[in-house]
Amino acid sequence: MKIAVFNTKPYDEEFLRAANRAFKHKLTFLEPRLSEQTVSLAAGFPAVCVFVHDEVSARVLEILNANGTHLVALRCAGFNNVDLKTAARLNMKVVRVPAYSPYAVAEHTVGLMLTLNRKIYKSYTRVREGNFSLDGLLGFDMHQRTVGVIGTGKIGAIVAHIVKGFGCHVLAYDVRRNPEVEQLGAQYVSLNELYKRSDVITLHCPLIPETYHLIGADAVRRMKPGVMLINSSRGELIDTKAVIAGLKSGKIGYLGLDVYEEEADLFFEDLSTRVIQDDVFSRLLTFPNVIITGHQAFFTREAMKNIAETTLKNIADVESGRPCPNSLGPTTVRK
Ligand code: NAD
Repeated sequence: MKIAVFNTKPYDEEFLRAANRAFKHKLTFLEPRLSEQTVSLAAGFPAVCVFVHDEVSARVLEILNANGTHLVALRCAGFNNVDLKTAARLNMKVVRVPAYSPYAVAEHTVGLMLTLNRKIYKSYTRVREGNFSLDGLLGFDMHQRTVGVIGTGKIGAIVAHIVKGFGCHVLAYDVRRNPEVEQLGAQYVSLNELYKRSDVITLHCPLIPETYHLIGADAVRRMKPGVMLINSSRGELIDTKAVIAGLKSGKIGYLGLDVYEEEADLFFEDLSTRVIQDDVFSRLLTFPNVIITGHQAFFTREAMKNIAETTLKNIADVESGRPCPNSLGPTTVRK
């Protein structure tokens, strides 16, 4: 099928080209993000391939549809950027990659925990400058600490597994229990209890209306003083201003983010020569106990290969009229 691949970075092109040897789709790589301003680039393409920050709103879908596009192939798991009801009304198919490497995200999450705890980001620069002082680098043993995992699906379960290996106690919260996590010896508790007892809290639930700003002022107030908070799920799970207040008061002792609620205007681009206009994000960068990575948790060789292969297979399924197991309907729960 002829596919307009929006928001292409060199690494997307590399993995999609390699995977396409088995599919022989006609791929056209486009740098811009899909939006109302750029949607005309898709004219005449039966399929578009998009990522997390592409704008697949009702208006964009209507223009796509009018210009001959009938398939939106997401090369990611989350689909909060797609208006599924409009897609269904227009009889357009939407497919995604529900799982590509939960290990990639879980391992990065634990990387954030260790980096923050042992202040590896500080020692890296210190040692390069010939400063071998240990002042200010004191950490804590993860062993015997309590880690609270919110959302114990594929990624949360692996995080629980890894930190169990460190000898941590694991508390879990989810709207449905995962027997695999219970078997590890994790204890399911209420959110309130998880906030009260956890030394480290890590978020792995989807972004849905019920989880928007899950971590706000009230949640922060219930947490242990000096808690470590990690978010590698979706930025909007955290009310950033409330968390900044928690950092200023010392209630939050460490913050590790791979996602940020206003990340679409920042992440995946080199803005190093520009002035960042987002004052909330800039404030976050001033704290000595905050580390932020730019939505890179998924970014491993294995994950990129799986994403490319599944995306192209999804498109081949739709093209040949086979049922596609990764289709999204108008009533699919948002992630
Ligand atoms: P999953 O569907 O396997 O697990 C999500 C879990 O959250 C499920 O167990 C579900 O029951 C639970 N949940 C649903 N509503 C909840 C609520 N209100 N409170 C608590 N838990 C709730 O998903 P996954 O593959 O483990 O991915 C988790 C999240 O990670 C995704 O939603 C996505 O936003 C994020 N993600 C981030 C990256 C990255 O690069 N940073 C990559 C992939 C996924």
